[in-house]
This record gives sequence, C-alpha cells and structure tokens, in this order.
Amino acid sequence: MQHRSTRRRRFWGWGYTDAGPTPEQEQRMAATLAERFGLTGLRRSAPPSLDELDLRPPRVLPPDALGAICTTDAEERAGHTYGKSWRDVTRAYARDFTNPPDVVALPRDETDVADLLDWCAAERLAAVPYGGGSSVVGGVEPPRDGDHRGVVTIDLRRLDRVLEIDRTSRAARIQAGVYGPALEDQLRPHGLTLRHYPQSFECSSLGGWLATRSGGHYATGPTHIDDFVESIRAVTPTGVWESRRLPGSGAGPSPDRLLLGSEGILGVITEAWMRVQERPRFRAAATARFATFEAGVAAARAVAQSGLAPANCRLLDATEALITGTDDGRSHLLLLAFESADHPLEAWIARAVELVRDHGGVVDDATVVVRSDDDPARGGAAGAWRAAFLRAPYTRDTLAGLGLVNETFETAITWDRLEALHTAVMTATIDTMRAVGAWPGLVTCRFTHVYPDGPAPYFTVIAAGAEAVADRLGQWETIKAAASEAILAAGGTITHHHAVGRDHRRWYDRQRPEPFAAALGAAKRAVDPAGVLNPGVLVD
Ligand SMILES: Cc1cc2nc3c(=O)[nH]c(=O)nc-3n(C[C@H](O)[C@H](O)[C@H](O)COP(=O)(O)OP(=O)(O)OC[C@H]3O[C@@H](n4cnc5c(N)ncnc54)[C@H](O)[C@@H]3O)c2cc1C
Repeated sequence: MQHRSTRRRRFWGWGYTDAGPTPEQEQRMAATLAERFGLTGLRRSAPPSLDELDLRPPRVLPPDALGAICTTDAEERAGHTYGKSWRDVTRAYARDFTNPPDVVALPRDETDVADLLDWCAAERLAAVPYGGGSSVVGGVEPPRDGDHRGVVTIDLRRLDRVLEIDRTSRAARIQAGVYGPALEDQLRPHGLTLRHYPQSFECSSLGGWLATRSGGHYATGPTHIDDFVESIRAVTPTGVWESRRLPGSGAGPSPDRLLLGSEGILGVITEAWMRVQERPRFRAAATARFATFEAGVAAARAVAQSGLAPANCRLLDATEALITGTDDGRSHLLLLAFESADHPLEAWIARAVELVRDHGGVVDDATVVVRSDDDPARGGAAGAWRAAFLRAPYTRDTLAGLGLVNETFETAITWDRLEALHTAVMTATIDTMRAVGAWPGLVTCRFTHVYPDGPAPYFTVIAAGAEAVADRLGQWETIKAAASEAILAAGGTITHHHAVGRDHRRWYDRQRPEPFAAALGAAKRAVDPAGVLNPGVLVD
C-alpha cells in the first residue's frame, strides 16, 4: 500500500498547492510588515507557472531498462531544481530554473536504486539523493561544476512504508522515503510514535533526516534523529551497507554514525530500524517572562542543567516573541513543557517553575497547565508559538514573494561563550544589513535546543530587500557570509541541524580537522570510486 500523499506539491516553494495563506492573509501580512518597516508599495509577486519556464532540454535520457522509473516531465524537473531556502524560493520567483536535473528517478526498491547508480557511474552522471527536498543549504541542488555529463535526482518518495514493528524491543523498520505525516499515520494505530518533529515535518523524509542529522523540535532529551537510530541500510555504488540491529555497541567507530550526516555522498539510505516510543499522554507546560535576555539565558541554563529534561525549553527574545504573535514584545519568554507516556508531571513542572523564578522569571500561575490526553495543542503563549511554528514554512515563502530578505542562521555554543557569540552575531548581522542597504530590518534570536553544556541559538533575519532580484540575492549572500564568519570566529558550529550542503561548505571546511577531512574523502572514494553521489557536498 502506498502511503504518500496524493496532494500536488508546489514546484516553486514549500508545501502543497492546496495549502498556505490565502491572498487576504498575505495582504494582511504585507500590510503589517509595511507598517513595521515603514515601507510603501510592498506587493507580493505572482509565483511562477510551469508554462513560463523554459527548461533546458535534458542532456541525457534514461536507458530503456530504467524508463519505467525515470521521468523528464517538466514539473518534476522544475520541482527538483532547488531545495527550500529563501534563496531557492527567491530564484524560483525570478523564474530562474537554469539548472534543473536532467532526469528525475523514482525507484521502487533497492534493485532500482542500485541500477540507477550503475547507470550514473557508467555514463558519468551525478546522482543526487532526494527525500522531501526541504534542504535549506543547497543540499539537493544539481551540481553546476564538475565533469559529469548530466544530473539524475533520485527521489525516494515511493519507498514510504513502515515494513515491520518489533513491539518487544519497541523498534520499527521504516523505508527512507516516507514523509513525517505518513510515517506517524502508520505508527499511530500501534500506539507508537517516532516523536521526531522538525519544523519541516510535513514535507521531509526519514532518509533526509538521517542524511542531515536533523533536529526535532523538542529541546532536550532524545530529539535528534541520531538518538532514535538502531541500524541503517544504504545502497552504495559498491554494494549494500547495513549495520546490525543493536541497542548499543562499542565495536569500533559506528557504521551508522558515518552515514548520519553523510548528506547523500556515501550512499542512498533505503531503510532504517528506528527506536519508537509510546505516544505521550501526560503533559505539563508553563510560560516565564523575563526583563532581560540574559536572565532568560540563566534560567534556561538552570533548567538544562537540572536533569529535568523538559520536552520544551525554548527561549524567545522579545522581538521573536512579537513577530511570531506569541507575546507583546515587552518581555523575553521561556516556554517550558514536559511530556510523558508513563507518569504525571506535576513535580517536574513545579520544580522547573521554581528554578526559573529563582532566576527572575515571572510565571503567572494561570499559565501553568497540567493535562493528560493525546492532544499536543495548547493555548496561551505556547499555543500561539506552536501555531506560528507550524505556519512558518508557508509564511517564509510569502516573505520571499514580497521581496523581503529572510534568512535563518543556527549554531550551538557552550554556555561560557554564549554571550560573546550572541553579541558578535547580532552586531555583524545588523551592521552588514545596514551596509548593504537591507534596512529597515530585524534580527531575532531563540534557542531551539538546550544541552547541559550549552544552547543552540537560532537567528532570524527579516529585512527590506533591494528591488532587483540579483541585488537582493547579493544582499542575502553578504549578510549570510558575515553572520557565518561571526559564528565561526566566536567558536560556534556552522550548523547545529540545518546541515552543510553546498551553502555552508566553505565554513565547514574550516571547522573540521584536516585529518578528518582526509578520512572522509577516503571513505567516499572507497564506496563511490566514480564520484557519482552528490558531488561537491562535504568533500571534493
Ligand atoms: C521551513 C523549514 C523548516 C526546517 N526545519 C528544520 C528543523 O526543525 N530541523 C532540522 O533539522 N531541519 C530543518 N529544516 C531543514 C530540512 O528540513 C532538514 O535538513 C531535513 O532533514 C531534510 O529532509 P528531506 O527529506 O527534505 O531531505 P532533502 O532536502 O531531500 O535532502 C537533504 C540532504 O540529504 C540527502 N538525502 C535525502 N534523502 C536521502 C537518502 N534517502 N539517502 C541519502 N541521502 C539522502 C540529500 O542528498 C541532501 O544532501 C527545515 C527546512 C525548512 C524548509
């Protein structure tokens, strides 16, 4: 049985053609932003239609033997030209589809994947593994350089099933191409969940999560896809790579860990045994307000180091709280939440509230909610935040359509260096926005994850962009480079969960140890001697 949605994806941006804000909602958004930034004439451009595109004819055609699983259909090729970053959507609005894949392949099983890789190796074609295409770092964009004769995008969306459930060990064998909602739909009847919810959940896949080490929206505890892996199976150009199903193993470097974050350069992940969980039914939540961001940081650190392991411990600076409609923008907010399938959580939330009050947090008793049901929705500031979080992918496309510059930078840093990093990134970003004329604008910060030894700060930029698309793309590039330089100089990582792709490559190269780069390159040559898989990503 196929589980993928039969809804039509937008070829130019996020999500489905039947979803997203209505024209009236977009107009309201434009009016609010125009007022905030003091802009006149903010108008949303029309998204491209297929008949406006003049796609380059395919440079290669599939052999007859692969004809049944390959297509050169214009909508498929256009839809696989980009990932989903602001830059991607902006180029799509500009009708710039100059570098589409030549062929889109839709394998039905591992034999198809192996046959496709053989064809690519024999014909000197680049193969780009593709899950939901939600990469925001150029990870699925067909490579422009290199000596390949063409590009085949291998979309795993037909591999969309939960194949097996082991109730005793509470694990499931899952095909890599399944998107978040279809995966949860198949686990729900068993009372189970993977409980991995990146913001891109609606249109991203298990294989993509594994290949990018994605971060779910829970702040602590198991939340990274890495935390749920029991074993991974991938097809490489030289054979199948599969690890044993084990709850843990000390047998040398982990084969799973090498595939995690491999971003399609070592093999095509086809399935994985994943740890699943009982669905949570006990919930508790509270919202704390702080007069200063620093006080909120201290409270978040206290909670992160307390061992309480909240599902949510999200610090929003005042501007972030304002623009997401979470609060009035006068306070910095710490959203706290606990979840459990096993036990009531009164004691946990009570202790967390005590901790944040000790650090100057104001917690209105009315915001402390304790419930036992299967409904994750909630009211108040937390409910408003959650609604904005779910709407955000569509909203971001609207901002691109309005000609605004919009970007997010995310990193992680130990607590002792947080203040310096936060100041450096804010200063570098704002100074650069002003210098390139992307002003008025705003930069916000929130924590997506907190660890005992440090947070993962996430910065959002929204700014008035230049009239001409090329200039606006230039503004984006300069701002991104300045923020990335500041992150690296302050000791942070170039990415905490968005991955490296093509966009972060130059900073990633400086971040990683040279011997490791050599080892990764050697691993790549061992499994992909013809250099077929996603050339230019992670290694040359
Ligand atoms: C609005 C929005 C919100 C986002 N929120 C989050 C978030 O909360 N957390 C987070 O971590 N990320 C987030 N992202 C980034 C992105 O969704 C993640 O990187 C996600 O894991 C990508 O999954 P995908 O299936 O879409 O992969 P794709 O975009 O299709 O591919 C990403 C990379 O993985 C490789 N790949 C994909 N499938 C396979 C496979 N089966 N085998 C081998 N390689 C493969 C590709 O070649 C590429 O290099 C967000 C993106 C958007 C647009």
